[in-house]
Amino acid sequence: MLTSFIPVDKESHFPIQNLPFSAFETEDGEIHLCSAIGDYVIDLFVLDEAGLFDGKYLKDQFAFQDSTLNFFMGLGKPAWQEARQTLTSLLDKENPTLRDDDLLRSRVFVPMEDVEMIMPVEIGDYTDFYSSEQHAFNVGSMFRDPDNALMPNWKHLPVGYHGRASSIVLSGTDLHRPKGQTIPNDSDQPVFGDSKLLDFELEVGFFTGPGNELGDTISVDNAEDHIFGMVLVNDWSARDIQKWEYQPLGPFLAKNWATSISPWIVTLDALSPFRLDMPEQDPEVLPYLNQKNRSTFDINLEVYLDNENLNEPHKLATSNYKHMYWSMAQQLAHQTVTGCNVRPGDMYASGTISGNTEDSYGSMLELTWKGSKPVQLNDGSERKFIQDGDNIIMTGYAENDDYRIGFGAVEGKILPSKK
Ligand code: CA
Repeated sequence: MLTSFIPVDKESHFPIQNLPFSAFETEDGEIHLCSAIGDYVIDLFVLDEAGLFDGKYLKDQFAFQDSTLNFFMGLGKPAWQEARQTLTSLLDKENPTLRDDDLLRSRVFVPMEDVEMIMPVEIGDYTDFYSSEQHAFNVGSMFRDPDNALMPNWKHLPVGYHGRASSIVLSGTDLHRPKGQTIPNDSDQPVFGDSKLLDFELEVGFFTGPGNELGDTISVDNAEDHIFGMVLVNDWSARDIQKWEYQPLGPFLAKNWATSISPWIVTLDALSPFRLDMPEQDPEVLPYLNQKNRSTFDINLEVYLDNENLNEPHKLATSNYKHMYWSMAQQLAHQTVTGCNVRPGDMYASGTISGNTEDSYGSMLELTWKGSKPVQLNDGSERKFIQDGDNIIMTGYAENDDYRIGFGAVEGKILPSKK
């Protein structure tokens, strides 16, 4: 098995097989693109400046001397794979280039605990899908009818909406409780004030690479060539605002105030040992969504709630990315079938990922069944929805007998609303 001269714990999210991409602030206050191994950030700016990305696609491109990944994402899969090969080789315990160069090593590896991570992408557009059947079934059962929980379109197309890119924030950003219009029970007049039914949504997102010109499409069987990598997503949702505003055009202010993502973008190549075939779809989909060898990834997902009263974070849910009805490739093919253009650095989120057991639901709405079954926390208190001071933490990783491919975490604390 491939190993690095940098020691990596077996439980680490960042073995040499992962090599995710992000950005961090250096000691001098500059923003550098980076990868990760074990407990270290790998400064890609330093490696690029030293001329070590010297393959066919990255030589003289200065791709890692930018402050965002957008240019690198736009170079496409051959460049992404070349960067991965270069990093794998430089970190290999048999390769002396970096291993035996003390000066370069001291500049390239920075302890992760000492750095602040920075949003690594300038996100142009954001789409949020709704692709977990159990989640759609749960919501449809709660608000409509368990016998007709899925809308007639749900198994024919990956339902989604265009979200808000400007308020996507990196893990660790604290957020004020939003205010808005809601409709009290038994009233026909709205009121204005703090959202009282604040929720998280456990999702996984992907970032696009090259994309397509306006008017062109991305075919379902080529779509993965346009997917740069994946992150954890918390699609914060104000359920009471959502309930009043959502008909007939879907979510608007309930979800536009914040979406949190994990800092590390994990590539599909790193996740490839964890591919799972997806079951045949019934009913059969239209040809433009009919993907050969439809697959997803076996990624364990966990959600925790922490606050200053708890001795340790309370686990709210355990789910898995494999609980998806639609693949990322189908989502991207659907997004572009009209000729909608996709650009490097656009973000696409899966929709809330709920498994088929009550402890695997990906939102408070489902875990407490609209607040009717409150969650008991380990300090004896109860939660129906998120309270001020609660920190919501999501983690994710794929694993086999030898290593984990991890995403790190996405967390965010809810502060009182702004006065
Ligand atoms: Ca969502």
